[in-house]
Amino acid sequence: MSSLKHPLIQKQLQITDAEGKPHNVTLKVIEADITTLAVDAIVNAANSTLLGGGGVDGAIHRAAGPELVNYCRTLQGCPTGEAKISPGFNLPAKYVIHTVGPVWYGGERGEAELLANCYHNCIKLAQQHNVISIAFPAISTGVYGYPISDATDIAIGSVLQSLAKATPSGSVIEEVIFCCFSASDAAIYQQKLQAI
Ligand code: ADP
Repeated sequence: MSSLKHPLIQKQLQITDAEGKPHNVTLKVIEADITTLAVDAIVNAANSTLLGGGGVDGAIHRAAGPELVNYCRTLQGCPTGEAKISPGFNLPAKYVIHTVGPVWYGGERGEAELLANCYHNCIKLAQQHNVISIAFPAISTGVYGYPISDATDIAIGSVLQSLAKATPSGSVIEEVIFCCFSASDAAIYQQKLQAI
């Protein structure tokens, strides 16, 4: 399993922030269980209650322990496209950034913009908490049904855009990991990252 944590691809890019300052960021694609990653923050594809669910949400709550749901009760939910942060409790990650992706209804209900907002708001919150390394699952592409290829374009595109909008008051994110849970998803991410 641990060998799967080796990046299938990694790409170092230079991003220019809102003040015109250049920063290096490494984007990586791995195939792994996100709950095993020792990064500053992992992102949870949560539902709007923030009280746990199936998929990656269930896995994160199981691995973090019951303190996570107790903490999440104090957050009072999260609208689609927004993000809230909690400690990682028993996880190796310091923080969990909970975001709520859109349910896919065919693409005519603002799904693309809402999904991009998830990535933007996660990056923003991460920078406010001095996060240097962050790992994302493929938000909305499980039970919520977002087509993986389009979702991957949004994931990579909106992360790069958010980093370019960064203001000097936040931390400089140096590592962004796209953590895939299947070889087929990882292959799509790999192909898209290659093409940048
Ligand atoms: P959503 O409701 O946002 O679609 P899901 O949890 O159903 O959320 O799926 C989102 C993505 O997370 C899917 O690609 C799924 O395969 C993946 N996933 C599920 N469990 C894990 C895990 N432990 N680590 C990383 N990714 C996971």
